[in-house]
Amino acid sequence: MKRSEGNNSSKKKNCVMPTLKYFFPIAWKFRKSYFFLAAFNVIIDAVTPFVNILVLPYLINELLGDKSLARLLTYAAIIVFGQGILSLIKDILLNVLEKYDERFKDYFTEELGKKSMSLDFQLTEDKEALDQIERARQGMEWYSGGIHGITQQVMAIASAVIQIAGVAVIVILNAPLVLLITAVLTAINAVLNSKRNKIEVEIFKDDSKWNRAFGYFSWEMSDFRNGKDIRLYNAKDMMLGKWEEYIQRSVETKKEEQRRTMPYSLGAVIPTAAKDIACYLYLGVLAITGKITIGVFSQMLTSGGTFYTAVNSLLTAAQEIVKRTNYAYEYVKLMEYPVSLKKGDKHVKAGKHTIEFRHVSFAYPKTGVQVLRDINLTLNQGEHLSVVGLNGAGKTTFVKLMCRLYDPTEGEILLDGVNIKDYDYEEYMSVFAPVFQDFRLFSFSVRDNVDLNGTASDGEVIAALERVGMGDRVKTMDEGINTLLFRDFDKDGVEPSGGEQQKIAIARALFKDSPTVILDEPTAALDPIAEYDIYRQFDKLVGGKTAIYISHRLSSCRFCDHIAVFSEGSVKEYGTHESLVNMEGGLYAAMFAAQAEYYN
Ligand code: ADP
Repeated sequence: MKRSEGNNSSKKKNCVMPTLKYFFPIAWKFRKSYFFLAAFNVIIDAVTPFVNILVLPYLINELLGDKSLARLLTYAAIIVFGQGILSLIKDILLNVLEKYDERFKDYFTEELGKKSMSLDFQLTEDKEALDQIERARQGMEWYSGGIHGITQQVMAIASAVIQIAGVAVIVILNAPLVLLITAVLTAINAVLNSKRNKIEVEIFKDDSKWNRAFGYFSWEMSDFRNGKDIRLYNAKDMMLGKWEEYIQRSVETKKEEQRRTMPYSLGAVIPTAAKDIACYLYLGVLAITGKITIGVFSQMLTSGGTFYTAVNSLLTAAQEIVKRTNYAYEYVKLMEYPVSLKKGDKHVKAGKHTIEFRHVSFAYPKTGVQVLRDINLTLNQGEHLSVVGLNGAGKTTFVKLMCRLYDPTEGEILLDGVNIKDYDYEEYMSVFAPVFQDFRLFSFSVRDNVDLNGTASDGEVIAALERVGMGDRVKTMDEGINTLLFRDFDKDGVEPSGGEQQKIAIARALFKDSPTVILDEPTAALDPIAEYDIYRQFDKLVGGKTAIYISHRLSSCRFCDHIAVFSEGSVKEYGTHESLVNMEGGLYAAMFAAQAEYYN
């Protein structure tokens, strides 16, 4: 519902000027030389037909008159070489301009990547925003042809305008009716074209959601890391089935587009034929009655043709600009996507920190379901807190709020007594080093995965890996810390085990050297005892940092200062292990009794 509202509003809006105003200043700043070459190309393109128009009548009149070989050869040479040289220059220019195309595309793709990475986190879980990213990417790269694709149309308009003006003068002086005939029939053509373009833009917008699903499946199917699940759960047929469904939908959309645009494409042939017949008749009468010479007769035919082509290319280019900017505007919309997360400018003070949740409640956007209710909790520097509770109790959401990936819907979170919304966002982020449940290692080297900033020395990275017990394993890798993880980019890339991946992710968190570290069940794949070992080891490594351990198990509770038991979005119990384990009828006491075999 919302999505189509968005589409309607952009359909009504004229996107040409906002799009051009957005892109051209950036492109001009990025590569000025491109625009000088484009201007030169316009001039060459504009003057080319005039060689023929201006010299051909002399050649024909010479043929029908004096027949001087020297003059005939001169005229012929001017036509042949003149046009040849101009078209050679044009080819070279177009070739050079094409080369800029890649640069522009790379540049704008990079900007899109930057924007996607800096969008409010909540948008990364929002279908509408994900669709918008897809529309922006496709709109800019493919459908609009990017800066070069749009500029080509601007160039076409500019050279068409010059040609039309030049030809109009020549035609008005000799056979003015040719102009009228051509103008009327061209207008008819333009109407047909514009209808066709409208249909294409409409269908593109609808198609983007299928393309996103299509892209997802092609990626998931070919990602060999999914190999196990696909085989063991016999997901191949389901995946292929869905894939085919998406292809089918895409094919249907294309068919629908063809079916709807076909009448307009076919209809465009008629005005062209009508124009030719009318011009031949009119000019034939003028020539037979001696009002114009045969040379001028041919000049008028060529001029009429040029005029028709120029007007058509002007209109096509104008419509093409409307269409292409409509596509490219999706990119502008993404780049101007509102940032709802308030970012303050307060500096985080150095030294010890206190984090406080004050009456915090939260519902995920567009759900209306409260998943956290009136949370009140204080964490002092160096304190180790264990957050436990069943799956779905709200533990991860609690951490997401603490890390400001979302803002509370009610209440406030304070760092050192100041609402976290008032802090400089990046500075606030530097306070936390979380390892989320769904942490991601990238298909980069081990080194780049640990030191995402790329600023540390090899020794520091190796030391971090040694601290988490990965030192020996990395030594066995062919290129040590420079070995690539996974096989996306290197067939010799290393495929770390689940446990090894967790260790690397933990090394990354420790490496960030933030005052607060968070382990959000990154060990969920491990058995309770292995999890307990990792948490205990980690607890030794964190030293004086504040540490938060999240688990649906109690592996970290014994060595933590406090335990918060989450249930149905609120903190049901809070205290030390000793105080909670003896609480009669308590949730924690019950959980501990059930899991005691692991931890006693
Ligand atoms: P836990 O970490 O304790 O397992 P979560 O914090 O992940 O629990 O989830 C709490 C509730 O919030 C669950 O009902 C879950 O379905 C819901 N939830 C989690 N993430 C989202 C999201 N991005 N959008 C909507 N609901 C969500």
